[in-house]
Amino acid sequence: MFEARRKVLPKAVKGPFRRFKWAVMVLTLLIYYATPWLRWDRGAWAPDQAVLVDLAHRRFYFFSIEIWPHEFYYVAGLLVMAAIGLFLVTSAVGRAWCGYACPQTVWTDLFQHVERLVEGDRNAQLRLLAAPWGPNKLARRATKHAIWIMIAVLTGGAWIFYFADAPTLARQIAEGTAPLVAYTTVAILAAATYVLGGLMREQVCQFMCPWPRIQTAMMDERSLTITYKFWRGEPRTRGLKRSKAAETHPVELLQTGDCIDCNACVAVCPTGIDIREGPQIGCITCGLCIDACDDVMIRVGREPKLIAYATELDARAEQAGEAPVPPLRRLLRARTLVYFTVWCAIGVGMLVMLEGRTRLELSVLQARNPLWVRLSDGTIRNTYQIRIRNLEARPREVELTMSGVAGTMWPESVDRKDAGRSVRFRVDADKVAKERLFVAAPEAGPQRSDIRFTIRALDGEGESASTANAFERPEAGR
Ligand code: SF4
Ligand code: SF4
Repeated sequence: MFEARRKVLPKAVKGPFRRFKWAVMVLTLLIYYATPWLRWDRGAWAPDQAVLVDLAHRRFYFFSIEIWPHEFYYVAGLLVMAAIGLFLVTSAVGRAWCGYACPQTVWTDLFQHVERLVEGDRNAQLRLLAAPWGPNKLARRATKHAIWIMIAVLTGGAWIFYFADAPTLARQIAEGTAPLVAYTTVAILAAATYVLGGLMREQVCQFMCPWPRIQTAMMDERSLTITYKFWRGEPRTRGLKRSKAAETHPVELLQTGDCIDCNACVAVCPTGIDIREGPQIGCITCGLCIDACDDVMIRVGREPKLIAYATELDARAEQAGEAPVPPLRRLLRARTLVYFTVWCAIGVGMLVMLEGRTRLELSVLQARNPLWVRLSDGTIRNTYQIRIRNLEARPREVELTMSGVAGTMWPESVDRKDAGRSVRFRVDADKVAKERLFVAAPEAGPQRSDIRFTIRALDGEGESASTANAFERPEAGR
């Protein structure tokens, strides 16, 4: 029922796409490993790690932006943007994400590079695979797996630094005093990296990842993909047969295609597929077969780009001897424009919201049991639970005022003789101040009056927030 897995041992290749892959790999790994170590001064009241998911205090820090749990919609917005960005890239340039920047691709590429360093290139690896177990095979395999495990542990280790102060956690890990959850997380992530990047490799892309299936619905005849120009390459003929045919049957030579069936494109493919069989779900469009084939074509004195990035439309045009669609017309089409517009709209909307958000928030909840109390002086008292949220990384003095009811107010912690029309609070940095507040007003008046509470920062910035509530009096005659 099942075909046994053919071990994919890709051959090393040189060329522009390989160089681009190296550049993306270095950049993405650098970002991943270095980001937790970047510092960002937020003053004495907040952590100085530039990117930090502070689960203990339920905060997300990203350079100058601080996200509270109730602002999670910003994170959701970023995730939506990332998804639409991926749709946009896929529609415009095909599976560029899979071929260059996906973590599975980057780590698999890294692991395969280690494999080539330790065991040699493809042919040496095949020989080692077929060789019986002995000291050489044992030593090479042990070295390879040891390096893989080291990379896997470093990968898992880097991840946890996003969730705690990196230097402190690193010191705790070195001293063996880090929390158990840190070691457990590193162990789980290291195991996942080792298994997915080292052992399963291309199988993750081909059988586990849903993205290739989703992307096929996003691509159309103007999306870039890897194309084997069969009209140029076929009928393929091996080099020896070709030269023999040329000696005896010159006409036959004219009927052969450019592909010399050297298998170089298959040998370098990290997913082990033969692109000459047409577009396949296993092709991550990394372009390495283009590098390999171009090298062969140049060496045999033929025109390169027998395998190339091309859209279906371009392929058809080239086959018919027509000019390809200009790149701009290919990029600017309804699908990409819709994705781009939605992506920009969400991004601009979030920026506007971020810029306009207040860093001071007020919520007031009226105590319902009892709704009112008649005091000894005949006034009616209502009770409110107020919460003042200071989203700044510094303590703030704020003034609470009320309007709509002609009365006085005072916090529970203060004597009534100090009651007035305003109350001052100090709210610690990045904290929520909670207080029970009493409001007393003459009994004469409507049974239910609108009352509005307003807070204003006293630090000169004039930031304010307000909320409406109700003041209740007894029914007439009670
Ligand atoms: S067929 Fe070519 S582009 Fe596709 S995965 Fe293999 S090497 Fe990369
Ligand atoms: S590398 Fe080029 S010439 Fe060689 S088999 Fe592949 S397509 Fe044919």
